[in-house]
Amino acid sequence: MAGSNPQAVRLAELGWREFRELVPKTYDAVAIPVGTIEAHGGIPLGTDVMIPEYLAERLAGPLSLVVAPAVNYGITRTLLPYPGSHTVSAATFQQYVTEIFAGFGRMGFAKLVVLNGHGGHVNELKEAVQAAYHETGIFSVVLHWWLMTPEASEEVYGGQGGHGAAEETAGVLAANPALVKAESLEGLQAARYEAGVFRYPFPRPVGVREAGKGMPSADVERAKAYMTLVERRCREAIEEAFAGWREELGR
Ligand SMILES: [Zn+2]
Repeated sequence: MAGSNPQAVRLAELGWREFRELVPKTYDAVAIPVGTIEAHGGIPLGTDVMIPEYLAERLAGPLSLVVAPAVNYGITRTLLPYPGSHTVSAATFQQYVTEIFAGFGRMGFAKLVVLNGHGGHVNELKEAVQAAYHETGIFSVVLHWWLMTPEASEEVYGGQGGHGAAEETAGVLAANPALVKAESLEGLQAARYEAGVFRYPFPRPVGVREAGKGMPSADVERAKAYMTLVERRCREAIEEAFAGWREELGR
């Protein structure tokens, strides 16, 4: 697995007896990467899964998380008409992830970390973690990593990009640099997000907030600097949630 960490405990690699020993005694929290298959500027169709998988591997050790296999198929919306994009319906996705999350509760996990890499199913994930709580009592924190670090985009790239732009290109560069080829970033055109304008499909494979800012870059060093800030912010957000739950709710 790209960016894999030999210390990470992975659910799919445990035997059931090991699981019985470890959960919840040693590990009471599970992390699941969630994404979709979607066209992205000059980077791969699986970008939205690769980046949360990378983050899960990096966060697993310091936060004592068991890393669960990812949900690769999500709700693709305005990029669906692009070649290679795939979607499932919103209702199917929401029901499927609700059952996955509730399943973690029944397995004995007290806490769930959802590492989401895709903007098309933000609301469904919010509903699903609440439904999983109602069913099994599991507590959840859902992170949409690219929304958490606008200041890191400013600091490293001089502005915020968006879909298929500087941030996601940095994530793939950090996870698996061989998948980002400088020539596939050449000549990319971006469309600007504009309040009050909805386009279907989105008219370009890259979206940015300001023309000319946050465009994809193949610079590995900047990508690492950016992803270090992202990883740190994710870690802080999870630690804050866990600390609150422990102190306020005894979890
Ligand atoms: Zn994406």
